[in-house]
Amino acid sequence: MIKKYLLAFLLCLSAKAILAQTTYLQCGEIIDTENGKILKEKTIVVKADTIAEILNGYQEGQGEVINLQKYTVMPGFIDMHVHIEGETSPTQYLEEFTLNEADIAYKAQEIAERTLMSGFTTVRDLGGSGVNVSLRNAINNGLVTGPRIYTAEKALGTTGGHADPTNGMKKELMGDPGPKEGVVNSVDDARKAVRQRYKNGADWIKITATGGVLSVAKNGQNPQFTVEEIEAVVQTAKDYDMEVAAHAHGDDGMQRAVRAGVRTIEHGTLMSDETMALMKEHDTYYVPTISAGMYVADKAKIDGYYPAIIVPKALEIGPQIQNTFARAYKKGVNIAFGTDAGVFPHGDNAKEFIYMVEAGMPAMEAIQSATITNAKVLRNDKLGVLSPGKYADILAVPSNPLEHIDFILDVVFVMKNGMVYKCPKD
Ligand SMILES: [Zn+2]
Repeated sequence: MIKKYLLAFLLCLSAKAILAQTTYLQCGEIIDTENGKILKEKTIVVKADTIAEILNGYQEGQGEVINLQKYTVMPGFIDMHVHIEGETSPTQYLEEFTLNEADIAYKAQEIAERTLMSGFTTVRDLGGSGVNVSLRNAINNGLVTGPRIYTAEKALGTTGGHADPTNGMKKELMGDPGPKEGVVNSVDDARKAVRQRYKNGADWIKITATGGVLSVAKNGQNPQFTVEEIEAVVQTAKDYDMEVAAHAHGDDGMQRAVRAGVRTIEHGTLMSDETMALMKEHDTYYVPTISAGMYVADKAKIDGYYPAIIVPKALEIGPQIQNTFARAYKKGVNIAFGTDAGVFPHGDNAKEFIYMVEAGMPAMEAIQSATITNAKVLRNDKLGVLSPGKYADILAVPSNPLEHIDFILDVVFVMKNGMVYKCPKD
């Protein structure tokens, strides 16, 4: 008991210390994500968790001064698609039978810290076991170091579908999971599954509108929800002020999801021109996850890395995403930066920028998609821009990534909510 009070007291003290703190960040260059410009020689004044003002030249005052004069500074990145609870490995499929929730939580804590240190100050987590909700709360309470998390808790699927948690198991273990576990087979189930997610603490709803690559099931692209079920998910989510993200590789399931009013399409691999037009019409955002496609196609070539049923899906679907992204970008579909980290090692999220630029998107637009665009999709107007009144979520890299996109991988400074987590060594 005494220990608990002592801890609370210390936390309170450190929180007060932060509230009183003013920090002056002297920035050589700033990427202005709002106007798509580079600003030179500015000082960002941070008070508590917020940007108070941005001054011309290198200024200082009462408070800490951090010299970033040699660096390019920009808003903290937002990744719209991660799985913060876990990470790819050849033993991942076995872990479902061996790990307890606490084991998952300890691993997730390290993943969260790694994600933040790589410059991602906010993530949308699109499915796990429920540890994701506890992790979000622990980070918000200052108990764990990590990004700001929006989470879908458990993704929704249909029986045998991409998010059915008992796929591939022997019958005694399979049971018959229902809406409480996120498995939906009717309009009523759809409503209950969404309400259960709300009760469990979700911020978003994720559905698996089509088959997927990494589930132990044959089809990676067939539609798996009826139109009525998706409509019920979207409408119920709306009642609880939540929006819906739809995993989709096949075009039919994707169209159903777009027409039913989901906010984002994840992966979008086999997206037709018609669906692209439909997405523009419905103001649906495309979250490409090129990184995940590249990674699974690569690992599928290693014998035994994935269960055999997954290999042909990974080889077929994985390599196509970058090309779909290139087409969607050209057609003017709204792009929201997202990677599917967890399918590949967390911390490598920024490689997605390189794949986007390779596919024809200018570096500034790629950075804007990971900042202002994602802030908009998350409906948080305090994220994604460095200007007065916004959260002090800030990172720095040694050289201007607009000149060479690879520079974006080398994040040397990270601030979240006005707190410094990483500083350049010199
Ligand atoms: Zn995913």
